[in-house]
Amino acid sequence: SKGKIITVVGSGLIGRSWAMVFLSGGYRVQIYDSQPGQASRAIAEIRKQVEELQNAQMLRGNLSATEQLSLLSSHDDLSQALEGAFFVQECVFEDLQAKQTVFQSVESHVGEDTILSSSTSCLMPSNVFSLVQNPKRCIISHPVNPPYYVRLVELVPHPETLPTAMDMAFELMTEVGQAPVRLRKEIDGFALNRVQYAIIAECWRLVKDNVISVKDIDLVMSEGLGMRYAFIGPVETMHLNAPNGLEDYLGRYRDGIRRVLSSFGPIPEFDGEAAARINKEICELIPSDQEHLSARRERRDQLLMGLAKLKK
Ligand code: NAD
Repeated sequence: SKGKIITVVGSGLIGRSWAMVFLSGGYRVQIYDSQPGQASRAIAEIRKQVEELQNAQMLRGNLSATEQLSLLSSHDDLSQALEGAFFVQECVFEDLQAKQTVFQSVESHVGEDTILSSSTSCLMPSNVFSLVQNPKRCIISHPVNPPYYVRLVELVPHPETLPTAMDMAFELMTEVGQAPVRLRKEIDGFALNRVQYAIIAECWRLVKDNVISVKDIDLVMSEGLGMRYAFIGPVETMHLNAPNGLEDYLGRYRDGIRRVLSSFGPIPEFDGEAAARINKEICELIPSDQEHLSARRERRDQLLMGLAKLKK
C-alpha cells in the first residue's frame, strides 16, 4: 500500500468509514465531496474517531493514529481529489442519476486502469455504470454499516467487469482487513439484503399475526440464531446439525423445512394497522427520539467492537 492513493467520493457516513478502513491499511486517502466544506468536516470527524479508537486500543492496522491521519487529505475539486488514484470508492447519495453522473465525470479524470467502485446498497451495476465508457474496471463494493466493525463487503460485477478487476478489489479489501465475498453476477438486493429481507418478512408476519411480541422476535435472533451466525453460516449450520453432515440433515429435515416454508404466506405490506402497531411496540421499548436512538446506536457499536475483537 505504500504511497498508493485511493479517492473517496462523497464524505457522509459511509465515505468516512471507508476512509478510515483504507487509512488503516496504510493507503493515502483523498476525500472529495460536492457540498463545499463537507470533506474538511469529514476529516475533523475522522481525526476524532481515529484518536478515540487509538485510546480504546481498537485502532485497526499497524500505523499509529498520527501516521494514519497524515495520509488523509480533503479536496473541494474532483480532479484534484482523483490525482494519482488507482482505486475510487464512490459514496454519494443513494440516487441512480447522481451516481451515473459522478462516474461519468470520475472516468474523465482517471486512467484506463483505475478501478471504479460504488458503495450502493440497492442499485444494480448495469444501471450505476450505464454512462461509463469502460465498464470492464467497474464494480460494486457494498459495505455493511458500520464497516469498521462489520467487515463484510459484497463485490458485485457489471456484466462486462473483468475477472482481474474483481480480483484486485478482493485483494484490496482483504489487505485492509475487510471480509470480501464475490457475487458471480448481479441480482437485485445482492446476497445480504435478499437474506435480510427474508428474515424481516417472516419476523414481521409473526408479530403481525399476533404469534409473538416485538421484544421476543428480536430475542429469537439476538439470543438464538444470531449467536451462531456471528461465526458460522446457515449451510455450515445444516452440515453440523446432523450426525453425518448435510445429506443426513436433508434426509431428516427436508420435508419439515418444505412444509413450514409453504405456510409463509404473501409478501407483507409493511403498512397500515400492522405497521402502526409494530411501531408502537418498538417505540415503547426504544423511543424514537434522537437521544434514545443515538444511545442504542452507541451501544450497538460498542458491542460490535467487542465482537470484532473476539472474531480476530
Ligand atoms: P450520506 O447522506 O451520509 O452521505 C452522502 C454524501 O455524498 C454527502 O456528504 C453528500 O454531500 C455527498 N454527495 C452527494 N452528491 C455528491 C456528488 N455528486 N459528488 C460528491 N459528493 C456528493 O449517505 P451514506 O449513508 O454515507 O451513503 C452513501 C452510499 O453508501 C449510498 O449509496 C448508500 O446506499 C451506501 N450504503 C450506506 C449504508 C448505510 O448504512 N448508511 C450501508 C451500505 C451502503
